[in-house]
Amino acid sequence: MAVVLVTGGAGYVGSHACKALARAGHTPVCVDNLRTGWRDLAAFGPFEQVDLMDAGALENVFGKYKPDAVMHFAALSLVGESVARPDLYHRVNITGSLNLLDAMRAHGVAPIVFSSTCAIYGEAGDEDLTEDRPMAPESPYGASKLAVERILSDYEAAFGLRCAALRYFNVAGADPEAEIGERHDPETHLIPITIEVALGERENLSVFGKDYPTPDGTCVRDYVHVADLIDAHILALDKLMAGESGIRVNIGAGRGYSVAEVAEAVARVSGKPVATVDAPRRAGDPPRLVADHSRATAVLGWTPTRSALDVIIEDALRWRVSPRFAA
Ligand code: UDP
Repeated sequence: MAVVLVTGGAGYVGSHACKALARAGHTPVCVDNLRTGWRDLAAFGPFEQVDLMDAGALENVFGKYKPDAVMHFAALSLVGESVARPDLYHRVNITGSLNLLDAMRAHGVAPIVFSSTCAIYGEAGDEDLTEDRPMAPESPYGASKLAVERILSDYEAAFGLRCAALRYFNVAGADPEAEIGERHDPETHLIPITIEVALGERENLSVFGKDYPTPDGTCVRDYVHVADLIDAHILALDKLMAGESGIRVNIGAGRGYSVAEVAEAVARVSGKPVATVDAPRRAGDPPRLVADHSRATAVLGWTPTRSALDVIIEDALRWRVSPRFAA
């Protein structure tokens, strides 16, 4: 059983990783600056409030816990915001990762599972994305994640780091036990916003662009359940602990839904109407991002089991109305 340092462990995806690691018998050490994370979601092991920009404090955490491996979730992750603030996105995402990698080197820690993104690929037309597609990020967010992937490859070659970069598509849903889930302030993501409209907490959903080259004109995304995504992390960690490296895989459900289809699905699952209004395109959004996840299946033995859109929405809704959401 391993001690796993989890950066961003008080955030949405990181908290689900900590829960799964603890359940698998590992010790997750949650490191989070609580800028967008939540202390109550960090409930599955030791907690350290540390910012990755603070190399000295990070170094102390490595000395204190002596981790065997790292899962690296901490990052700024909003595509739209990154277009307005490339300075912040590059500085935080790249420098924070460099500080982390240098602490790993100093303490002889080799395995790292890194949260990458399909936003490193950019425009793909009608094709599902495979990992060997040319990298062409359309947003500073995607560019910052691609820069970290390149740094990871260089550290693998030079320093014996062993990395799995998991290229997430659109993560959604919540812990099926509704103990933890997604909580953003302000909320910007499609499924939670649409659920708030169905619950009467928001007047309507702004549909960002209806003139995309997609069947109904709205953007198509591949929504993957956070529980499936975390399964991929645990499988990747096992591979790295067994000595493998150089894992670069897409983690998406392999099926795309448009913004309009998501609005319909939330209305269907909740039994409540979802009012929509047309809004301009959001900067940095490619028309269609859908995964070909066959490499993840071949390399990790991963297949999604909870990523049907209605199951994602049911779990997200259960969390959203639970008392824990408002805690
Ligand atoms: N979207 C939208 N209205 C909203 C929020 C999102 O139309 O209020 C669209 C957005 O343009 C994108 C899709 O929903 O095409 C998913 O966006 P989200 O922010 O959930 O995830 P991202 O793709 O940015 O990771």
